[in-house]
Amino acid sequence: MGIRVAIIGAGMSGLCMAAKLQDAGIEDFTVFEKADEVGGTWRDNTYPGLACDVPSRYYAYSFRPNPEWSHMMPPGPEVFRYFRQFATERGIRRHIRFGADVTAARFRDGKWWLTSPAGVEEFDVLVTATGFLRVPRYPDILGLDTFTGPMFHSSRWDHSVSLSDKRIGLIGTGSTGVQITSALGGNVRHLKVFQRTPQWICPWPNLRVSEHTKAAMRRWTWLNSFGYWFWGGFVRSIFGVAPVRPGWQRWLYQTQCHWNLRLSVRDKELKKKLTPPDQPMCKRMIFAGHYYRTVQRPDVEIVTDPIVEVQPRGVVTADGTLHEVDLLALATGFDFHAYVRPLTITGEHGRTLDDAWADGPTAYRAVAVPGFPNMFMLMGPHAPVGNNSLVPVAEDQADYVMWWIDQLRSGRIVSAAPTEAATKQYNDAMKAAMPRTVWTTGCRSWYLGKDGLPELFPWEASRYAELLRSPQVSDFDVRTAAV
Ligand code: NAP
Repeated sequence: MGIRVAIIGAGMSGLCMAAKLQDAGIEDFTVFEKADEVGGTWRDNTYPGLACDVPSRYYAYSFRPNPEWSHMMPPGPEVFRYFRQFATERGIRRHIRFGADVTAARFRDGKWWLTSPAGVEEFDVLVTATGFLRVPRYPDILGLDTFTGPMFHSSRWDHSVSLSDKRIGLIGTGSTGVQITSALGGNVRHLKVFQRTPQWICPWPNLRVSEHTKAAMRRWTWLNSFGYWFWGGFVRSIFGVAPVRPGWQRWLYQTQCHWNLRLSVRDKELKKKLTPPDQPMCKRMIFAGHYYRTVQRPDVEIVTDPIVEVQPRGVVTADGTLHEVDLLALATGFDFHAYVRPLTITGEHGRTLDDAWADGPTAYRAVAVPGFPNMFMLMGPHAPVGNNSLVPVAEDQADYVMWWIDQLRSGRIVSAAPTEAATKQYNDAMKAAMPRTVWTTGCRSWYLGKDGLPELFPWEASRYAELLRSPQVSDFDVRTAAV
């Protein structure tokens, strides 16, 4: 049976889904992309110092190794190039409709009806691949809009503004703020970093890959596969475990963070300012090679007095100081809980995803929602985004979606959606497992949902892959043509 698939989003996950469809011989699919290029987060984020903090060999599709990575952890522009090249060489671009913002998706008469600038179109299966760190979060600071200099969010960096001659104010010290600080320190007139809460930093020197190694990787592809296997094993067995259960893996990361601060910062006052109040890994772990060195430069200052307001010329802190700056960069994170929104998705009986998620976003194994037949999400709620590379997660999810697409294609079934009971059971089990994770040890982080619990997968990263490899049909409300 022919099947028409709609994918929303041409980022890392959407492209992966497209490739899996092609591998299965399905060419009747459309990727809706509201921007004018593929790449998702790697297209939108271009801030100075942007890099991926996952080992490069493991931040690539398992089926498309990249011998060209220049560093152990890839710079952002290289990751962006990798996905652009992938879309081109796999012939995915002809399926992508750029500038196509899907505003509504409705399930009616057994089909998904998508509304985009091209009108309303009908599909058998809907796959959302809209990413989860997509909607910038602007800080709610009094007078922010009165600032007269250039001001932008880290994911909307304005490259037309010169930096070297400026006094820069940077708000936020998460992964993004740390990377920007490391890149700007010493390259601008002055940098003031406004830190609300210090974060633990795991030391990670980002070694360059030699030309000899690249040549060897090009010649012997098994070397690349070995790198994927090695780094995958490393990430899954150490980083994949450390946050979710106490043990030597957690001890290792936490000890590294403590010693990194102790050995890297001599000044007692500064060390105090940089000492987080919570446990390492409670917030998203930060990996950085020379952040502490940068903040000890004379032209870099960490401001810890809380921000009271922003005035036309700068930032006022609680001690009454006006910190004059020429440019304000907001590394204040993203709305993690948006998922597909503002797109309105309406399932059976006119029930929207917003209705279904009134108490917070939940899903069955992070990919499907009761009442939304033949709709699958990549990186949906409680995906293992806090303890694994997202690329293998996307691959596992896309394989899982393909399993269901194969059932639909064979004509054995006409629709499938997880049952309320199975979804509840799955989410209850996750809730019960949360207290063992480091994410619940008392910190403010973007991981936490409305109920104060992390919207993450509370077990080892490898367990998620196992769950997806064994679809449980009994957990689904499956309809056949005869019904
Ligand atoms: P984030 O981790 O949410 O950090 C936001 C920062 O802004 C925090 O320091 C926060 O302080 C501060 N902040 C927010 N509102 C504020 C306000 N009103 N006043 C003062 N400070 C405020 O965001 P992010 O750094 O953009 O990182 C988000 C995620 O993106 C990361 O956790 C990571 O998963 C991903 N990321 C990955 C990489 C990579 O290399 N793979 C690089 C960058 C980002 P509090 O801590 O006090 O809330």
